[in-house]
Amino acid sequence: KRLILIGPPGSGKGTQSPIIKDEYCLCHLATGDMLRAAVAAKTPLGIKVKEAMDKGELVSDDLVVGIIDEAMKKPSCQKGFILDGFPRTVVQAQKLDEMLAKQGSKIDKVLNFAIDDAILEERITGRWIHPPSGRTYHSKFAPPKVSGIDDVSGEPLIQRKDDTAEVLKSRLEAFHRQTEPVIDYYSKKGLVVQLPAEKPPKEVTTEVEKALS
Ligand code: ADP
Ligand code: ADP
Ligand code: ADP
Repeated sequence: KRLILIGPPGSGKGTQSPIIKDEYCLCHLATGDMLRAAVAAKTPLGIKVKEAMDKGELVSDDLVVGIIDEAMKKPSCQKGFILDGFPRTVVQAQKLDEMLAKQGSKIDKVLNFAIDDAILEERITGRWIHPPSGRTYHSKFAPPKVSGIDDVSGEPLIQRKDDTAEVLKSRLEAFHRQTEPVIDYYSKKGLVVQLPAEKPPKEVTTEVEKALS
């Protein structure tokens, strides 16, 4: 399966991805995670993108398209993939479709994590992540067993620098202006499934499974 997850920041893409990934043996490609790793490692790419990410703005289409093109070649992605946080502009979507067409493949489904903006601030400001594994917690909705510590590895959790109410505003603005048109783009191709992303995580998972069966 070749899937795209689209939704505003905090809509639950990162929470559902590991579940879908394991159930269908797909690789999980999250451009935000890859960019944050590059920022943390201070690679040339990381240095280039840090400012835009800190402000909650999108980074350039060419950079993320390059990252995805490279990542999709991994052996673990040959059975299919979950794109989480990509494409975020219509240009990215067109380039992705071209890339896939060259390999004689295409996107099977686009899962739209539909949710009201009003719910997102609480989700984002309470988010804690374990960067090495991508596991995500929430101080109120999904707390770790020990505060600030990953349940599995015992390693520390971090809060993202851009997970503030202030930066969330810019990220939501970018979502509505630049990413919502991507939903229309795939709707016209008949690929979009709406998910009730405001429901509890387990119910969202059930809806995802229904959409993919
Ligand atoms: P995204 O990847 O779309 O930005 P996340 O999956 O990281 O969003 O979720 C954002 C925060 O909200 C996390 O702290 C996560 O634990 C929590 N969360 C995810 N899904 C739900 C849900 N269905 N109900 C309540 N909280 C959720
Ligand atoms: P979210 O939790 O908001 O869905 P992500 O982790 O997906 O956030 O993305 C974090 C930041 O990384 C974005 O605000 C943006 O600066 C950058 N980014 C991630 N994916 C893309 C993309 N496909 N195009 C442009 N910028 C991106
Ligand atoms: P600062 O601007 O304070 O120097 P950093 O460069 O330390 O910030 O981190 C930039 C962002 O990347 C922050 O949101 C931080 O939480 C996040 N981050 C730090 N280390 C990692 C990592 N190994 N993987 C993913 N994200 C990380």
